[in-house]
Amino acid sequence: MTTLSKDHAMQAPSRRSFVLAASAGVAALPLLGACGSGPASARENFPVSKSEAQWRRQLTQGEYHVLREAGTERAYTSPLNKEKRPGTFVCAGCGNPVYSAAHKYDSGTGWPSFYKAIDTGAVGTSTDYKIGLPRTEVHCADCGGHLGHIFGDGPRPTGKRHCINGVALDFRPA
Ligand SMILES: [Zn+2]
Repeated sequence: MTTLSKDHAMQAPSRRSFVLAASAGVAALPLLGACGSGPASARENFPVSKSEAQWRRQLTQGEYHVLREAGTERAYTSPLNKEKRPGTFVCAGCGNPVYSAAHKYDSGTGWPSFYKAIDTGAVGTSTDYKIGLPRTEVHCADCGGHLGHIFGDGPRPTGKRHCINGVALDFRPA
């Protein structure tokens, strides 16, 4: 998990600018898709849609960096890492319920971890290549906000580890 460096996140905008400039508008979108750069929200339409300026006004800097720029918070920085009460974790961008405390577990990674989403329509996934290898990116199905990544080393029954940035979530106690 320590390989999720801020440096990689910071490279995305410049790489995208380069691709756009180099292609001069020809086939820019397929190239973007192939590179996997940019958050999912840049490539799809979501039910909750706002301009980047609106998101900047609504979100804190930390929330914006993760949700809209697919950034990664530093490990062990989220108070939600230790949240153990029953309740629901909602997207910090739009309030969509995305994870349940019932599926949360301590992965020891320093990020809130879940073995599955609250229901099948709550989140969407895409593949990103930010670290040079394919990873499954997970985002809010309603607003496209980046939440984290899904890895295959989780506990039963799914074997999945949804490694989620706490800053991308708000907790609603039951
Ligand atoms: Zn959302």
